[in-house]
Amino acid sequence: MSNLTHKYLEVSNFSKLLLKWHQHDNNRQMPWKGEKNAYKIWLSEIILQQTRVEQGLGYYNNFILNFPTVADLAAADEKKVFKLWEGLGYYSRCRNLIATAKLINNEYAGIFPNTYESILQLKGIGPYTASAIASFAFNLPHAVVDGNVFRVLARIFGITDAIDSTTGKKKFNLLAYELLDKKHPGKYNQAIMDFGATVCKPVLPLCSTCIFQKHCVAYTQNKVNQLPVKEKKIRQRSRFFYFFIIQHGSKVAVRERVEKDIWQHLHEFPLIELNEAALTKEAVTRARNMGWVGKDTQVRVHPAIYRQKLTHQGITAIFLTATVSGQPASLKHYEWIEANSLPAYSFPKIINDYLRSQLTTDVLAD
Ligand code: SF4
Repeated sequence: MSNLTHKYLEVSNFSKLLLKWHQHDNNRQMPWKGEKNAYKIWLSEIILQQTRVEQGLGYYNNFILNFPTVADLAAADEKKVFKLWEGLGYYSRCRNLIATAKLINNEYAGIFPNTYESILQLKGIGPYTASAIASFAFNLPHAVVDGNVFRVLARIFGITDAIDSTTGKKKFNLLAYELLDKKHPGKYNQAIMDFGATVCKPVLPLCSTCIFQKHCVAYTQNKVNQLPVKEKKIRQRSRFFYFFIIQHGSKVAVRERVEKDIWQHLHEFPLIELNEAALTKEAVTRARNMGWVGKDTQVRVHPAIYRQKLTHQGITAIFLTATVSGQPASLKHYEWIEANSLPAYSFPKIINDYLRSQLTTDVLAD
């Protein structure tokens, strides 16, 4: 037993209290709770990796409806999978989902691998997701350590090591494994995550009614708001995108983003990226110089500015429109699609926001 648990709270008491709380007080009902089907657990975990439960629910139900088994997902048209994923963001998750479904189908005969090590080998699955699948689907003794668990353990046991430092991670992982109820790992993991999400919340935790109150170091030492500790602050990068909606007859130019960047495999309009927001004229000059629009072609700018916040990037988008009399040679790598078929393509959220709000009249850009 580690010094930490010995000093403050016995291991068996911790899991007993937690499981008792979960049985009586927890009512977070979700379709994947108590689920034993590894495919469905995996799907829910991937969707929830960077998405709130309320937002992820509809997507989960839709995926299960369209692809009830891993074989269905493996055989699906990728365009359809991306379309269903649209709006969830972090599209690398979707790419990994498709790759992993194919691998399970081809190399595991469609049966989800059932050891922690083999699950961890799958694309897009880290230690947290592997532990969740291993414990929920196969009742294997692996402790989940996610943001909720870091917070709960840091506060109850007063751990001041940074959760993103190497020593901190090691300490939290050891303690999490020590506390895990090895007979009921799935139930225990679900309980500690629910406890972090509903009681020991990041802001305004429910300390006054908390079952751990008298054992909780953060509470007894008045340090609830100081724990957990994080070492690095995420640096935000600002990017400014000028999208040109270039129309020829009833068609517009779009392309798939193939570069290793945000929104890979989603579609976009011809784009000029500049390092400031108020450079519309500069963007138009560049578009003219590149031959996207002729020197005399009118370019109009949409009056609204669109913003989207990603984990490490803040995106600002400005939309410009122009009608051309011929398809420019400089846009020969673009697909010219019927404007009314745009909804069938997968676009980043910021472009969809624009497409949904085209009621405002554009004004001349230069
Ligand atoms: S007393 Fe407060 S800080 Fe401590 S575990 Fe309970 S909710 Fe979290």
